[in-house]
Amino acid sequence: MNITTLTIWQIKELLWKKEISVSDLINEYLSTIYEKNETLNAFLHINEGCINQAESSQKKYIDKTAGELEGIPIAIKDNICTVDQPTTCASKILKGYMSPFDAHVIKKLRDAGAILIGKTNMDEFAFGSSTENSAFGPTLNPYDTQRVPGGSSGGSAAAVAADMVPGALGSDTGGSIRQPASFCGVVGLKPSYGRVSRYGLVAFGSSLDQIGPFAKSVKDVALILKVIAGYDQHDSTCCNLDVPEYDREIEKDIEKSKIKIGIPEEYFQEGLSPEIREKINKILDFLENNGFFVEKINLPHTHYGIPTYYIISTAEASTNLARFDGVKFGYRSKDSKTVYDLYVNSRGEGFGQEAKRRIMLGTFVLSAGYYEAYYLKAQKVRTLIMKDFENAFSKVSFIITPTTPETAFKLGEKSEKPLMMYLSDIYTVGANLAGIPGINLPIGFSSGKLPIGMQILAPAFKELDLLQFAYYIEQNFTRE
Ligand code: GLN
Repeated sequence: MNITTLTIWQIKELLWKKEISVSDLINEYLSTIYEKNETLNAFLHINEGCINQAESSQKKYIDKTAGELEGIPIAIKDNICTVDQPTTCASKILKGYMSPFDAHVIKKLRDAGAILIGKTNMDEFAFGSSTENSAFGPTLNPYDTQRVPGGSSGGSAAAVAADMVPGALGSDTGGSIRQPASFCGVVGLKPSYGRVSRYGLVAFGSSLDQIGPFAKSVKDVALILKVIAGYDQHDSTCCNLDVPEYDREIEKDIEKSKIKIGIPEEYFQEGLSPEIREKINKILDFLENNGFFVEKINLPHTHYGIPTYYIISTAEASTNLARFDGVKFGYRSKDSKTVYDLYVNSRGEGFGQEAKRRIMLGTFVLSAGYYEAYYLKAQKVRTLIMKDFENAFSKVSFIITPTTPETAFKLGEKSEKPLMMYLSDIYTVGANLAGIPGINLPIGFSSGKLPIGMQILAPAFKELDLLQFAYYIEQNFTRE
């Protein structure tokens, strides 16, 4: 048996039965990481020292005090702060940076016994859809190394897909969990805005960012969400709501006759790969044949999603990135004569091309002459997009859409065409603008043997219903 192909739940069972030990498990994963990382470049930092935790974790299985993720290796996107491993955001400006504190989610993972096995590659500061914008080289797609794993959390998605780790954390500002999960054939969840604390997540677009899990199964994602979700006084946008036992409750019977599924026409138009459309149609047939009610709906402001997202997210990014000035954090340019030169040189040398593009776009849309025409307008359109979802959810329980217009594209295919790259997020940005949860569920493979994903959206804070529904499909629909 190859342990690394198992789900977290399967591993936990073996650990409880003492059929494997935590140190066997960690050694197995560490050697898989070392073996595959040379090609895939999914990890920026491998935490070799984590093996030292194995013994105390093992003891907890013996004492029966094991936490929910006791001894389970979890990989962390490199924009989530950890005291014992560098946090670089895949940027030269933060190379080698050690955070003085742990993110809230990291504390929660440690409390649950998880073993933080390494930090994963990403697009610099989470700007991108392919992980090609990393200052430390791109991550490759484990299904085809000529192709990208998606982004910006491409390292986390690839690490799970390549059996380097059974679960990982990513962050999603406009699709960065769901899109790479789709390209790599794994489950990835973006929680509702406010469900998981952003404390210790290096901010990109503060009104859009959420941390969420990647894993091989819906139940594993539910378990990780249960561990990381919940109130945190350090994030004023984090809601004080009970955290359900997502992992256990999703197994309850689903009341099919009460569930209506909305299919937004705007998401199935030109530009969508026929193979993805066909696979989703199969799921819809399956759902109808199994007693669910499927109906067409409209989200009329969908085509404003990309421009609205790229105005709001770049505006927020430009202010969030102002703190990297060569004084307080990371990289400092040498030999600057004035403070002004120090700022300009450190930022000029430290940030990559896409980060600079975002800063310039964001500064432009916030500038005095253009603020009302762009930023303010985008905020108004954001409200219209939110209302589209509100209207839809007054009629249906879930919305099903493709996660991406196409399967994983080739390295270099879009890196010189930022607008084409931005369009990869067309189906995912809506959930961030509206603050609602969304999941990518793998539903099969293309004729070229690349993973195809489907997105399910639910009303804010309905993660339990969303996971339960995704679990039903995962358990009952036979993938080809
Ligand atoms: N691809 C989108 C962007 O480049 C989303 C990124 C993200 O969700 N972090 O902004």
